[in-house]
Amino acid sequence: MIKDFKYLSPKTLKEALTMLDKHQDDYKIIAGGQSLLILMRQGLVAPEYLIDIYGIPELNYIKSDGKKGLKIGALTTHRDIENSGMVKGVFQVLAEMEHRLASIQTRNRGTIGGNICHGDPAGDPAPVLMALGARLKLSNAKRDRIVSMDDFSVDYFETLLEPGEILTEIQLPALPLRSGAAYTKFNIIESDMATVSVASWIAIDEAGRCQDVRIALGAAAAKPLRVKKAEAVLKDKSVTDALLKKAGVAASEEAEPVTDINASEEYRRDLLKVLVPRVVNEALSRAKA
Ligand SMILES: Cc1cc2nc3c(=O)[nH]c(=O)nc-3n(C[C@H](O)[C@H](O)[C@H](O)COP(=O)(O)OP(=O)(O)OC[C@H]3O[C@@H](n4cnc5c(N)ncnc54)[C@H](O)[C@@H]3O)c2cc1C
Repeated sequence: MIKDFKYLSPKTLKEALTMLDKHQDDYKIIAGGQSLLILMRQGLVAPEYLIDIYGIPELNYIKSDGKKGLKIGALTTHRDIENSGMVKGVFQVLAEMEHRLASIQTRNRGTIGGNICHGDPAGDPAPVLMALGARLKLSNAKRDRIVSMDDFSVDYFETLLEPGEILTEIQLPALPLRSGAAYTKFNIIESDMATVSVASWIAIDEAGRCQDVRIALGAAAAKPLRVKKAEAVLKDKSVTDALLKKAGVAASEEAEPVTDINASEEYRRDLLKVLVPRVVNEALSRAKA
């Protein structure tokens, strides 16, 4: 049963930040409620104040940053990102990831900001945003700060967010020519959370050699994880099947998966050996296209 709480519904970001500042010790932000309400119903979270930011229109947008990058307001729903003409094309991988996240009903209500702030290591958006080099704007009543998506999750369901802070914006840098990105998740039930997931972005030079690469994993550690040893296997090389296989092995060794009701640690490591080469190879094909 949900414990009683005081409900506050600010209409502007400034109003919300003032409320957060005032109730620093015992509030919870609610956006789409798709993750938080489950925890509240289970009695795992019982805040005195529930601060509902869903009705703040200034945090709901997808716009160009003027340099062919993208800025996404934290309250943008999964469904809006999935269907956005600005996302399809250069940031197609983001739309593809959203298409596989939950059901349409959940995507209609759940926000990308809420997903990241929930801090579930199996969440779909985080590995893709890491692969795309995303940065996050965190705001409180006094200032904004920018952090890398790579650093945002610190442990199971724990993020860098401090009391009084709201994630306000996700910033995606422009992607260079001859680069491509891909994502997949392995799950038994379609639209369910990932057993493991893999996202990759790769940039190649005119000769087709790998100039830069990012590989990020979901559900493979206590937080979404960049596997830099696997990236090093490919960087500055002409990518061959043998190197892709080596990168898969490196990623599976670098990961820190657990055994839970969905899969054993060994099974997850085996999946990574298969999925990492497959996803990087798809990103590479897109970079060459
Ligand atoms: C049936 C079902 C299936 C699902 N399947 C998937 C799936 O396949 N893949 C997947 O990734 N997710 C899945 N989810 C999870 C869910 O879709 C996301 O976590 C959801 O997007 C969270 O967004 P929200 O707006 O509902 O956040 P809320 O539930 O409102 O909030 C989540 C957390 O983030 C905090 N928060 C929210 N917004 C902000 C902000 N802007 N700044 C600071 N803190 C904030 C809240 O305080 C809370 O702790 C599923 C959920 C359900 C119910």
